[in-house]
Amino acid sequence: MLDAIVAGVGGMGSAAAWHLAARGASVLALERFDIPHDQGSSHGGSRIIRLAYWEHPSYVPLVRRAYALWRALEADAGEPLLVVTGSVDAGPRGGRNVQGARAACAANDLPHDELDSAALTRRFPGYRLPSDAVAIFQPDGGILRPEACISAHVSLARRRGADVRAHARVLGWESAGGVVHVRTEDGVHTARTLVITAGAWTGSIVRPLAQALAPERQVMLWTQPLRPERFVVGAFPVFYIDVPGGPFYGYPSLDHAGFKIGRYHHRREHVDPDTMDRACHGEDERVLRDGIRRYFPDADGATLAMKTCLFTNSPDEHFVIDWLPGERRVLVAAGFSGHGFKFCSVVGEILADLALDGGTRHDISLFSAARLPT
Ligand SMILES: Cc1cc2nc3c(=O)[nH]c(=O)nc-3n(C[C@H](O)[C@H](O)[C@H](O)COP(=O)(O)OP(=O)(O)OC[C@H]3O[C@@H](n4cnc5c(N)ncnc54)[C@H](O)[C@@H]3O)c2cc1C
Repeated sequence: MLDAIVAGVGGMGSAAAWHLAARGASVLALERFDIPHDQGSSHGGSRIIRLAYWEHPSYVPLVRRAYALWRALEADAGEPLLVVTGSVDAGPRGGRNVQGARAACAANDLPHDELDSAALTRRFPGYRLPSDAVAIFQPDGGILRPEACISAHVSLARRRGADVRAHARVLGWESAGGVVHVRTEDGVHTARTLVITAGAWTGSIVRPLAQALAPERQVMLWTQPLRPERFVVGAFPVFYIDVPGGPFYGYPSLDHAGFKIGRYHHRREHVDPDTMDRACHGEDERVLRDGIRRYFPDADGATLAMKTCLFTNSPDEHFVIDWLPGERRVLVAAGFSGHGFKFCSVVGEILADLALDGGTRHDISLFSAARLPT
């Protein structure tokens, strides 16, 4: 009998597999596509990590622990995974992200600078925000390399004995007699705990969550900057800017991939991940070019790449990390609502805590499944 089966080996599932295996648990981790792949939520070369967490005060202790675990993973894997660039949260002085970032910095004693728009441009010339915008610059923000993070978690988990299988789709599961049976094309596997980390597909294997978790199509655009020196690591922090036409988020050029930008909730397209339009169109580019022309004109060069990706939104955009209601053997981690990747390392730790110890020292009360509409 296995200690745990992990359903879905993307950002969260790979971290869960590692933390479970590192504690000596027997683990089978099942992924329907390649590991990693570009059909879910964890591809595209870069994800923002930042301490100035404006979404809710509960996230700051978790992101601190996530940083420590990412650094430990880097050391174990012998590979750079986290690149520090600094982070900028900008927008109207009284806007939610500026106020929240300022409050998170004050409450957690985080070093930061508050800059008006002109001062931001003097310090980081790639930025040209509206004249009345205010920016909170926090120097610890940076970039995670998502595909490399997944591969590192998986390869270390395998080294500790985890059985991690690609092209192994979970077809269904049932709990009975204190164990969980998981059905795949190869047969039925049985474990004490099932950990569901199926991202945008969570609703298809946990039907009661299908209403609450809404997959949404996103698009990322990479351009060749006209002034490349303004968009390199060291000269250009990652950003989330609440501005007309936005909000936009983005990254300096990493590994010569170009300046990268996305619009949060892109065109508000709720989709089925199995039938989503994965091609990128002129209208997708127009939305993102508009942001570049207005706020980063020196990045307005040739298009290098465009890719689709998926958010999975919960109703309040906070995560869901909990036992499934009524199921004491089934854990779910989902609904990461476009801001989850930075937390994968600590979510893996939390899932291992819950699966093996029945509880966790981390405060996850914000992420309760009971709050969701059914
Ligand atoms: C464009 C974009 C930009 C983002 N930017 C940021 C950012 O800057 N910072 C940040 O912190 N977050 C960001 N996010 C959010 C973050 O990437 C996600 O919250 C995170 O990747 C979610 O990880 P996951 O493990 O839940 O999903 P995934 O990584 O998609 O993993 C789910 C896995 O489950 C597998 N699966 C599904 N069903 C089955 C099944 N039946 N059997 C087996 N396997 C199955 C899938 O194939 C997939 O591999 C961004 C997201 C997008 C789309």
